Amino acid sequence: MNTGNTLDHVLSGLRLPEGTYAKVLHDLTGSPQEREAQIVVWTDRPYAVCPRCDQPVTHDLSQAAPVQLRQGELEPFDQQHSCGLRLAVLWEGVRGTDDHHAVTPDDVLCVARELSEALTATRQSRRDTILSRLREELTEALQRLNEPLAEGETLEERAEDVRTGSETAPGIYLEDGHWIIWAYDPGRPGGSEDDLVVVHETELQLATHP
Ligand SMILES: [Zn+2]
Repeated sequence: MNTGNTLDHVLSGLRLPEGTYAKVLHDLTGSPQEREAQIVVWTDRPYAVCPRCDQPVTHDLSQAAPVQLRQGELEPFDQQHSCGLRLAVLWEGVRGTDDHHAVTPDDVLCVARELSEALTATRQSRRDTILSRLREELTEALQRLNEPLAEGETLEERAEDVRTGSETAPGIYLEDGHWIIWAYDPGRPGGSEDDLVVVHETELQLATHP
């Protein structure tokens, strides 16, 4: 069993995977003699936008652990968003794996790597979900473009009908004569091109038209 001080020592100089954090939590609920400490590892939130209401949520969780140590148990803080959805947060308490249950830097690293992988997988799966929705939307738009024009309808009007976005607004638009659809990647805080999910019409397997 480690005391708080030796746990601090375990963490000192430890390099964790990007987006993962570790901290020694102290149990302040017991008497000082019984005070326990435990290392907790957690990650950034897997998304920067609430999956239910689309409002931006705190993505960088580096500043504070999402759990506290009370009566010897790790208790997560409430992650309920204003819309009612419980926002995802990945964390795990680190336990010593040797005979004396003393926590080593390797124990911390092992948990951190697992959580880091879970974070990547969660981000990827959300990105994949968005990607398939974009493919579907663009496919429908292209089908609509290929349908015969109505009486008095012009090609320009039809194109305007399917356009839902622009270079700066997410959605469908015509770029250099090709239709594309794009959205922000909810897993990353916006900014660089890597944070966008984009589908070009040339990527889609389309039914051939007469
Ligand atoms: Zn929400």
